[in-house]
Amino acid sequence: MRIAVLALQGAFAEHVQMLHRLGVETFEVRQLNDWHQHKDGLILPGGESTTQSKLLHELGLFQPLRDDIANGLPVFGTCAGLIMLSQLHLATMDIEAERNAYGRQLGSFHTSAQVDGVGMGIPMTFIRAPYIKQVLTTRCRVLAKVDDRIVAARQGRQLVTAFHPELDSDTRIHEYYLSMIKDDNDEQE
Ligand code: GLN
Repeated sequence: MRIAVLALQGAFAEHVQMLHRLGVETFEVRQLNDWHQHKDGLILPGGESTTQSKLLHELGLFQPLRDDIANGLPVFGTCAGLIMLSQLHLATMDIEAERNAYGRQLGSFHTSAQVDGVGMGIPMTFIRAPYIKQVLTTRCRVLAKVDDRIVAARQGRQLVTAFHPELDSDTRIHEYYLSMIKDDNDEQE
């Protein structure tokens, strides 16, 4: 298995490390040429979504990414990556994201909670995190809430978390994402 990690800006190195720990091969996407390599999935890291979106457009990556995701390329977006997949940018997921508006935090905080299909006590590190204000269709399934706000969701082969699992040592969220890729029969939209 080979996973593309968008590496324009933000916390991509931690995802690469996490995937290597799980024995998965990765490559970094920095320009359009990189995108043409074989890949089984894509990770959109945290960082700054406005900057990431601008760079995707400038580098001619926005439309190819969008097309491949819309055609079923499994994708995992964390934090800014969640914002990228929302209606604000790539709009491949039926979620309304609210930026920098997470209830009790203006900076960062850490907690743990259950994530459906993944497990109990999943560590969650939030850094100026977005949350999902609402899922817009029944194709999108809420996986976790913290303080009554949606912090993880799945739609077909798209997974998003408002928190940063790549910053904690618990590998369960990444393993869940990898299982989404492996399981051909699993819930397509
Ligand atoms: N606040 C950032 C944004 O709006 C997201 C923060 C993060 O990815 N850690 O893009």
